[in-house]
Amino acid sequence: MGYLTERIQRIEHSIQQACENSSRSRSEVEIVAVTKSVSTARANEVKEAGIIQLGENRAEELLVKQEAISDGVEWHFIGNLQSRKVRDIINEIDYLHSLDRMSIAKEIQKRALNEVKCFIQVNVSGESSKSGITPEELDDFVSSLKSYDKIKVVGLMTMAPHVEDEKVLRTVFKDMKTLRDRIMAQQLTHAPCTELSMGMSNDFVIAVEEGATYVRIGTALVGAESEGFN
Ligand SMILES: *Cc1c(COP(=O)(O)O)cnc(C)c1O
Repeated sequence: MGYLTERIQRIEHSIQQACENSSRSRSEVEIVAVTKSVSTARANEVKEAGIIQLGENRAEELLVKQEAISDGVEWHFIGNLQSRKVRDIINEIDYLHSLDRMSIAKEIQKRALNEVKCFIQVNVSGESSKSGITPEELDDFVSSLKSYDKIKVVGLMTMAPHVEDEKVLRTVFKDMKTLRDRIMAQQLTHAPCTELSMGMSNDFVIAVEEGATYVRIGTALVGAESEGFN
């Protein structure tokens, strides 16, 4: 069995286990393979292995990979997006995970030809190094997106702090779910907010146990370009 297939099976097994532990259905969780640090060739292998949702954090790199891989992939933009780059990618992607300010929303409204599925990035851990709006700003931010008919708020996204402490991670993910549930309960047309994008290579099991519906897995899935692959 190839190295990649083995990695995918291991991740799949962990996700199934996490779903069982939390009485969730496996079908509630989507895997986004984060290919930002590997080549187009390897991203294509990931797709061929059956993971068809790919995540990139730089506009240029996404466009290069997209042109080479083209069909059958859903593209997720997971990085901090500069206003001037919005026009380059907004009509090329399926999901934007990093909506966190009005200037980006305005630019999307101006440039998007169709409605764009967006996650609002929230900084629940309060680390100043992380992008995202604060939990306190969330309600107002969601409200102010109401008139932007090119933006559909499908969910919330976060990056957990880089710590080992499981308790800290769980608290962050639980807080995110609480925030998501609160918006979802309002049943807003422009912000159904049913999804939770959280969990990376080191913490996706905990994130799934706490309610993640999209996990964004890089190194644990695609490896690093410097490693051999098969
Ligand atoms: C790089 C990145 C990931 C994946 O990180 P890994 O630790 O390699 O799994 C997920 N989300 C975002 C926003 C990233 O930038």
